[in-house]
Amino acid sequence: MNYNLLDEPWIPVLFRDGRYERLGITDTLTRAHEIRQVAASNPMDRVAVLRFLLALLYWCKGNPPRDAQTQLHEPLPSTWFTALTAHRGVFELFGSGKRFYQYGGLGKKKPLSVNSLIHEVPTGTNINHFRHSIDGEDGLCPACCALGLIRLPLFTTQGGQGKRPGVNFKPPIYLIPAGDNLAETLRLSWMQIKNLGAPIWNRDTYHIPIDGEILFLEALTALPRRVWLRNPDIEDRCISCGRFTDLVRECDFEGAPKRELPNSWQDPHVVYFLNEDEIRSARADNTMKPGGFRTDRPWSRLMERFLGAESLASRDTDTRFLIVGFASDQTKYIDAWERTFTLPANTNRIAASDAIDRWSAAGARMPWRIKHPSPQRKPSSNEKAIIGSIRPHIEHTISSNLTELVTWDDESWNEASMEYRKLMEGVAESLSPGYSTAAVRRRGYLSRVLPDLSQKQNDVSETEPEDEEDADS
Ligand SMILES: [Zn+2]
Repeated sequence: MNYNLLDEPWIPVLFRDGRYERLGITDTLTRAHEIRQVAASNPMDRVAVLRFLLALLYWCKGNPPRDAQTQLHEPLPSTWFTALTAHRGVFELFGSGKRFYQYGGLGKKKPLSVNSLIHEVPTGTNINHFRHSIDGEDGLCPACCALGLIRLPLFTTQGGQGKRPGVNFKPPIYLIPAGDNLAETLRLSWMQIKNLGAPIWNRDTYHIPIDGEILFLEALTALPRRVWLRNPDIEDRCISCGRFTDLVRECDFEGAPKRELPNSWQDPHVVYFLNEDEIRSARADNTMKPGGFRTDRPWSRLMERFLGAESLASRDTDTRFLIVGFASDQTKYIDAWERTFTLPANTNRIAASDAIDRWSAAGARMPWRIKHPSPQRKPSSNEKAIIGSIRPHIEHTISSNLTELVTWDDESWNEASMEYRKLMEGVAESLSPGYSTAAVRRRGYLSRVLPDLSQKQNDVSETEPEDEEDADS
């Protein structure tokens, strides 16, 4: 069976005129200026496809020409992509020769369900899902297999012994500048890179060096799993996209050889911050963890760091970002979410970051503010819990419009704190029930407590759920 990713229709795209289509690699790149965006229903695919296309752009054309940032709306000329046809064999999904993103010579272990490639389709004995699938019976169409393979470098989690996470360890939050069309989106991420290296498909064995520096294109395409797809057989409905076609049902799915990952790798689409002398990436919140539902830290911390990032050049035009997070706990896949956020032109990023910092610290201090009337007393676990239960709602309301948030002045932030007022009445009833004079007085006090936004320093040590695990590190 032949399925060449250069021309088989596997990349879902939305054209600027509203048409939806699936295209091969060649059409997607050369018609990128006609395409509004990658139109996959799972935001993880949108990021994976963009990064894959970016790797292809670097591989075919190298570093951007000098005028790349001024020619954002121009098409990507087809003459740039002659390397694709010259290396056609690299993009074959099946066949006995070299295959795209796959390793031959495996098969010592029992094959797994091919659905292991798609996070949202359950496999093995996972029963607690809204969607059901049976290993070996339900399978994927070739297009979904290809989408699953290109997810591997970005979203592979720690998967038990010998199965290590991808180059960014536990999947971080990816933040990608998005243009009005796909050509512009790719150009916005197309920056000068000192040492590009070569993508994994350029190597005979697909192995990247076990130690030493990891180069840009290696990191973008490094595969933490060795996969070999079984050939498609009987026609059926694809469990992922619903198309009726010949399906792949099983694949070899093994860990890649151990590789000491150098700390020097910094992904251009990941926001990093310093945590106790250790550089960590911002990650999606695992709300399934005990206490994980309690805090607001991820969005505010992400925004703080993002706005403070030196690499982010101040633009004189508005810049839209696609932000995608994948919350996971080793082999448990918890949630994939996305936000789009427009950074208005010439935003005072320092002031915005500072304001978000103050807002977040003031929220964390709320249990201390309600502990009246004995100021020496630490907040009780009841008081902490009840604030913890209303904060996610408030933070969700406030963070739902990130674009406006970065332009807010002190006045707007004070108004934002009124979000607490609506819920503090309920808090008051719960913490101070009854009709004694003292209870009624305390209720009155509690219902008026608001966060104090004037203090900058977070003077309480908020215990927040941290990820112990970098799995690998
Ligand atoms: Zn499919």
